[in-house]
Amino acid sequence: MLLPRFIEYARGWSRAAEAQNSAFAGMLTRKKARAFVAGLMRVSVVLLILASAALDDRVLAQETPTIIDVHRHGTWPDGDDENYRTKTLAEMKANGVRLAVISLTDYDHIESWKDASPEFFLAGVMLACPRNLSEPRYKCFPSSEGWVDLTWLRKMVEAGKIEAIYELGPNYYGISPSNPRLDPYFALAAEFDLPVGVHTQRGPPPGARNSTRGDPSCCPDYDPEMGNPALLRPVLDRYPGLRIWIQHVGAGRAGGYEPFWDETLALLRDYPQVYLDLSITNGPRPIAQYEESLRTLIEAGYGDRIMFGSDNVSVTLILERLSSIDWLSQPQRNAILHENAERFFRLKQ
Ligand SMILES: [Zn+2]
Repeated sequence: MLLPRFIEYARGWSRAAEAQNSAFAGMLTRKKARAFVAGLMRVSVVLLILASAALDDRVLAQETPTIIDVHRHGTWPDGDDENYRTKTLAEMKANGVRLAVISLTDYDHIESWKDASPEFFLAGVMLACPRNLSEPRYKCFPSSEGWVDLTWLRKMVEAGKIEAIYELGPNYYGISPSNPRLDPYFALAAEFDLPVGVHTQRGPPPGARNSTRGDPSCCPDYDPEMGNPALLRPVLDRYPGLRIWIQHVGAGRAGGYEPFWDETLALLRDYPQVYLDLSITNGPRPIAQYEESLRTLIEAGYGDRIMFGSDNVSVTLILERLSSIDWLSQPQRNAILHENAERFFRLKQ
């Protein structure tokens, strides 16, 4: 598509060269000058065709984004939905992200996120919302005290507007994922074969920057130990085949916030439908920790379970880090960036 423009440009370039050549008139015969110009033109056209092909590839790569971000948050109930959605879409487009699994936190977000840009978002609802010390008392779905209404949720699932339950935050609410209060939601997920995304690991620690816990009124019930992935076992046994993706794998290592590696690897071994994302580990944590986490998972044979998740950290930063890890093969990168998520979420490619 750029080729005609480049040929035109090459012609202009050779005309300029021809004009410039007249300065050498005393040294070259007219015939030699023509041969020189013709040669120059041929070389320049070949070079520009190559440049044009390379540019076309780059344009094509931007026009057909492939990456799937399985960990993305929309706005809080009091947020500026339109402004943040526009920013989110711009960041996705700039980085080649074709789809984001978005966590919604209030009833009207169906219109402001899912209905507004259906092709870019697979919507989930946040569950077991953190309780606050100040107003609003609950970080999400405040009109129903932090618990999304089940009748509404069923209706939205039947209408195809909600396709996941995510992010489930048991440690924010201070309960185990197998707490009976969560069971009706897991039952609904099993009935409709919805994937469930669960916040695991012990963090974030109190006061963490750019985090819900950075808000001093947030989460007096927070219990780091409720982020242990082993606590999902009773749920996975009760609902065989239920697809769960565990989030923030490998995150931690500040103070007592060690990652749950043994429990994570055992869960992946025992439940082949459990996938994961490395959000936070892939961004704010030291790159050596991200690389070590990838190596641990891939050497254990779980390279086909790792999905790309940003948790709203700069996608550019995470992609740069991923591309700097030189021992990863292209098939391994493709698996992380989109293929594993296409399989887990049963998406068309
Ligand atoms: Zn998150």
